[in-house]
Amino acid sequence: MMGRQSDSQDKLFYSFNLEAYVPQNHLLRGINQFLDLSDLRQHLSQLYSHTGRPSIDPELMIRMLIIGYSFGIRSERRLCEEVHLNLAYRWFCHLGIEDQVPDHSTFSKNRHGRFRDGEVFRKLFETVLQRCMKEGLVRGEGFATDASIIKADAQRQRGISGDEPADWGNPNEATRPVREYLESLEITDSPDYAPKAISLTDPSSSWTAAHGPGVFAYCTNYLIDLDAGIIVDVEASAVSKSAEVDATKIMIERVEDQFEIKPARLVGDTNYGSASMLGWLVDEKQIEPHVPVLDRSEREDGTLSRSDFVWDDASNEYSCPQGNALRSNWRPFKKPRSHITKADTILYHSIKSDCTNCPIKEKCCPNTPVRKIARSIYEPARDVARAIGETDAYKQSRRERKKVEMLFAHLKRILKLDKLRLRGFSGAQDEFLLAATAQNLRRMAMWLTPLVPDMQAIPA
Ligand code: SF4
Repeated sequence: MMGRQSDSQDKLFYSFNLEAYVPQNHLLRGINQFLDLSDLRQHLSQLYSHTGRPSIDPELMIRMLIIGYSFGIRSERRLCEEVHLNLAYRWFCHLGIEDQVPDHSTFSKNRHGRFRDGEVFRKLFETVLQRCMKEGLVRGEGFATDASIIKADAQRQRGISGDEPADWGNPNEATRPVREYLESLEITDSPDYAPKAISLTDPSSSWTAAHGPGVFAYCTNYLIDLDAGIIVDVEASAVSKSAEVDATKIMIERVEDQFEIKPARLVGDTNYGSASMLGWLVDEKQIEPHVPVLDRSEREDGTLSRSDFVWDDASNEYSCPQGNALRSNWRPFKKPRSHITKADTILYHSIKSDCTNCPIKEKCCPNTPVRKIARSIYEPARDVARAIGETDAYKQSRRERKKVEMLFAHLKRILKLDKLRLRGFSGAQDEFLLAATAQNLRRMAMWLTPLVPDMQAIPA
């Protein structure tokens, strides 16, 4: 017999319990268990006046944002609609069945005003990270670092060539991303080179063609603990190798300052294998670099490479295959010279009398009277990294590095953060912080709530 649904929508009174309605294995229950905003509330209280009309509860806004970033709801308008309609979202936001959800324009205004001024998202990220530490998910023995390109909300058609002068108009009437960009130009020295293109919509973003057709983008930089893959710091940067290296240095120092954690080893790809970065890790921070050494000294034209020359630390010279010396200093100077070049190298060279009649000169220095070798001042640190590269621990580190790559894949595919919605450097920083917070919360919920097996089906 075909059934007919009873017409029960006109009931006057309902007996409804929102708490009972949300399934025990819902991901939000796990997240809620590890989210304590009481400290954050105290931090936020300094940003609010003691008089006037009560604002939207900041905790409600933060809970809504966590929903948005945990479930890939990127539009603020849609987030407000979803919280209005979805009972599990209402439960997580501590909203009753009839409570009003903030209007999306009020939501945006609060988010971009007060929250950004108070570094609220940084504080939120650190609060969640502290909980991860309390739960024993951060061991601090090994960290991995990597960066991923995220497209900016800036069309390439609104870009101009980097050497073309841009008319930004009256700074007081400019948009927030433009104001931020102009302020940053005043603070920092102008770069030595002009970027290839500048976006008029979001001038802080970088032009990149690293993954196909050129786009404006930012980089999100992650520093993760290798034990459970918890993100211990996140930083927005321009899309360039040097900016990524700088971001990693900032993150390592910030984690050390904030939480007194310094890893014994850092795992990274070739981008972090520059001589200066290895020098910083080994000499300054005493961190083992599990990083491939960036080495361009091997020659491919058949002539002798630097590795064919033997370094002697005691006499500070190279020895060539013919047994002759290459020195940086062939005569004494009244004032001792460091011989360090702008590229942080020291040039070692042979002498003409040795090379002129050398039987292998054509293979060594066919176009110059003497052979020159540039040695980085960070060469001892590079040697440390090369020696680590031969160990089994290094092979293990290479496998563990995939954890950070998986977090980026999850960020783009599951949390749908492949393109930013907020503009400007601070907008990118806010979005990256919120996404990393959501990833840490999801991971805690997945890993530490074993009584709800269905939850494990959702990727952390
Ligand atoms: S050319 Fe000079 S530096 Fe090169 S192998 Fe011969 S003697 Fe040594």
